[in-house]
Amino acid sequence: MSNSSTDVVIIGGGIVGLTLARALKKKGVGKIIVLEKEDHLGEHSSGRNSGVIHAGLYYPAGSLKARLCVEGSRQMRAYAQERGIPFQPIGKVIVSPTPEQLPMIETIHDRAVQCGVRIERIDDQQLRELEPEAKTCGNQALYSPETAIIDSKKVLASVQQELQNQSVEISLGEKALRIDEDTKELHTNQRTLAYGHLINAAGLHADRVAHQIGVGQNYRILPFKGVYRKLHPEAARRFRKLIYPVPDLRVPFLGVHLTKNMDGSVSVGPTAIPALGRENYGIFEGLNLSETPEMAISLLRLWSANQNGFRNLVREEIPKYHLARFHQSITPLAPNIRQEDIGGVYKVGLRAQLYRVDEGKLEMDFVVERGKNSTHILNAVSPAFTASFAFADWVIDTYYSP
Ligand SMILES: Cc1cc2nc3c(=O)[nH]c(=O)nc-3n(C[C@H](O)[C@H](O)[C@H](O)COP(=O)(O)OP(=O)(O)OC[C@H]3O[C@@H](n4cnc5c(N)ncnc54)[C@H](O)[C@@H]3O)c2cc1C
Repeated sequence: MSNSSTDVVIIGGGIVGLTLARALKKKGVGKIIVLEKEDHLGEHSSGRNSGVIHAGLYYPAGSLKARLCVEGSRQMRAYAQERGIPFQPIGKVIVSPTPEQLPMIETIHDRAVQCGVRIERIDDQQLRELEPEAKTCGNQALYSPETAIIDSKKVLASVQQELQNQSVEISLGEKALRIDEDTKELHTNQRTLAYGHLINAAGLHADRVAHQIGVGQNYRILPFKGVYRKLHPEAARRFRKLIYPVPDLRVPFLGVHLTKNMDGSVSVGPTAIPALGRENYGIFEGLNLSETPEMAISLLRLWSANQNGFRNLVREEIPKYHLARFHQSITPLAPNIRQEDIGGVYKVGLRAQLYRVDEGKLEMDFVVERGKNSTHILNAVSPAFTASFAFADWVIDTYYSP
């Protein structure tokens, strides 16, 4: 095993780890190494998401998500423009699938206004003009003209290239194994690295990394599975905008929606099904006997206390594994979609959702904690892709000291 040293080591080459390296470079930090355990970037959340640059409509004013999503969206679009990464500001409509959900239209509208985000109230006629395939209840819907789409893997590749041009080492296939905070050494599967500061941006594994050195003990990651299917091309051609239902604001998920992709195809999803393994992408894949029972216990606690309206979430989400129920979940938003229009599962993403143990609840906002010589990104859930550039600047300004 070789020894090397660096000013900052970042564990995790997702969008958060890469944009943090970029923010550190802007501050003039000399040597930075980013470790990514996979052989390619984008194998987890950053390459398995909806590719939506969110406008920042949903989050309570004053929350980190509200602030950093709005600024992050601006920065992501400016970055894409500057680097020649195609994106489309196609806009999205938000509809109320049932009369009971109508009050949420007003709530989302007010939140957007409080956060200074452009939002328009629209009626059935305007909805038909914008997106003839969408349906709402009560003659009320919302339109967000600033929501955009982008290929998230192209953003990762561009930041990777930019960092490499600045001599940042992005080491693929290198897994962080053990941290010694006192000697400031990180042991990987390839070497021992002496560091000045360590940043943990390990996504689905961030709690485990932090726990090694006594940080974030009150938190556990609970993975939630997002299954996507695609519309067959004939059906996809009819769609112009993204179509989202009003979300249940008790949970940090937006509900199954229709998203246009950069290639013109239309994705339907993602679900938010509780998973029993951090990388449980298939049915049994990624289950781990040492962790699955603890995850099951946390899920049972959420169920019995019905925190975050958890029972409702489980009852609605688990059946969506079946195509017929998946189809039923989308027809209130887009009634002309037939079950035959929906293809097989083509992508699965896992959300690294943080669970707070003492209060038995899901954390709704981004969470970052500081160790002695380290910074830990514990809850970089959606819209952390959109927010990433602004989030990285904020983390470095707030937590990093050489
Ligand atoms: C289904 C789904 C849909 C989403 N849709 C959107 C959207 O449309 N818009 C939006 O803004 N956000 C969206 N998000 C959220 C967004 O994708 C994530 O918030 C963001 O990608 C998190 O980035 P990350 O870098 O923290 O995590 P990741 O991309 O998971 O990166 C963490 C990396 O750390 C690596 N790693 C872990 N442990 C180690 C170790 N020990 N050593 C070395 N490397 C390690 C992993 O291999 C991984 O590559 C979505 C997320 C999901 C799951």
